[in-house]
Amino acid sequence: MSEFRFNPLKKRWVLIDEKRSDKKGYFNIETVKDIEDTTTCPFCPGGEKNTPMELLRKSSQTDDWERRVIPNKFPALQVEKQLAKSAAGPYSEVSGTGAHEIIIESREHFLTLSEHSKLLLYDMFDIFKKRVMDLKKDVRLKYFSLFKNYGYSGGASILHPHSQILATPVIPNTVVDLLKSMQNYYLMHDRCLICDIIDFEKNKGERIIESNSDFCAVIPYASDYPFEIHIYPYSHQHDFFSKGTNYLSLAEITFNVFKKLENKLGNPPINMGIYVSPVSCHIPDFGRYNADNPFFHWHLEIIPRLNKTGGMEIINNTFINPVSPEKAAKVLEG
Ligand SMILES: [Zn+2]
Ligand SMILES: [Zn+2]
Repeated sequence: MSEFRFNPLKKRWVLIDEKRSDKKGYFNIETVKDIEDTTTCPFCPGGEKNTPMELLRKSSQTDDWERRVIPNKFPALQVEKQLAKSAAGPYSEVSGTGAHEIIIESREHFLTLSEHSKLLLYDMFDIFKKRVMDLKKDVRLKYFSLFKNYGYSGGASILHPHSQILATPVIPNTVVDLLKSMQNYYLMHDRCLICDIIDFEKNKGERIIESNSDFCAVIPYASDYPFEIHIYPYSHQHDFFSKGTNYLSLAEITFNVFKKLENKLGNPPINMGIYVSPVSCHIPDFGRYNADNPFFHWHLEIIPRLNKTGGMEIINNTFINPVSPEKAAKVLEG
C-alpha cells in the first residue's frame, strides 16, 4: 500500500511506495570503489603545489599534514567579487560573491565510509567551525553550507576524501523553508519543532537507528530518499558552532552511521550536510531573521544516493520513496 506523508520540516508531501523497490532496476546502487589513478590527484601528498594557497592545516606529530583547507580551484563563488544586487522587471540578481573552500580530510586517496575515522570526522566538524568563524568576519556572507559529497553519484568529481564550505550572500531555498516551518511551529505551539520530533520518535521507538548521550540518528517519518538519515542533538541547540556542541560525540554517532551504511548497503555514494542557522539578516520571503531566536534547532542529514529521480521529483518537487522509513530503520538497526 502506498501513502502520502507530510514532511513538517520541509513542508512537502512524499509518496512512500514500496512496490517500486521490487521493480528491476529501480535501484541503481553504486558501490564506491577505489578506481582512480592517484598520480595526478592534486589532493594526494605531493600534489600540494598544484592546489591554491592553503588556508588552514592540521599537522601530525611527524609534521606531515593530516588535513588541509584550500580555496576551490574552480570556485562557484568568489570573495573578491563586489556584492551587487539588482532587479529587472520580475527578475532579481545577486552577484556570485562568497567563498568556496575544500577540506582535504586525509592523506589517503581512498577511504570507504567506515574508514572515515572518528578523529577524521571530529576534525572535519572542528575545521567547519574554525573556517566559518573566520568567514563570518565578512558581513556580506549570510549563510554557510557545510557538506560532503562521496562517490560520483553523490556529485564528487574526485574520490579523494574531502568536504566543502560554501559561504553565500543569500540563504539557500531549503533553509528558508526550514526557518519558516520552525518559526510557524514555534508561534503556534510555543515549542521547538525538532525537539517535538525527537520526543515523538523516542516514544515511538520505530525509526531511531543509533543514539548516544548527545545525539540520535533517525530515519525521518516522511523521508524523501530511501535510507535518508537525520542526526539531531537531543538538547535544544540553536547554534552548531557554539561551545555546547560536542563534536566528539557527533563524530562518534556519524562514524557509527557510516559503518551501518557500508555494512548494510555496500558502501553507497552519499551526500552529507549540516543545516545551521543563518546570521541575523533580512531574508526575502521571510522578513527579519534574528540568529538569537528560540525556534531554530540545527541538524545533520545523510542521504545515500540509491535511486533515480524522475518527473514527480523534478516537476512537482514531490519525492517518491520506494523504501518505508520503518523498513529502512529495521535494515540499518539489524
Ligand atoms: Zn588523492
Ligand atoms: Zn529544539
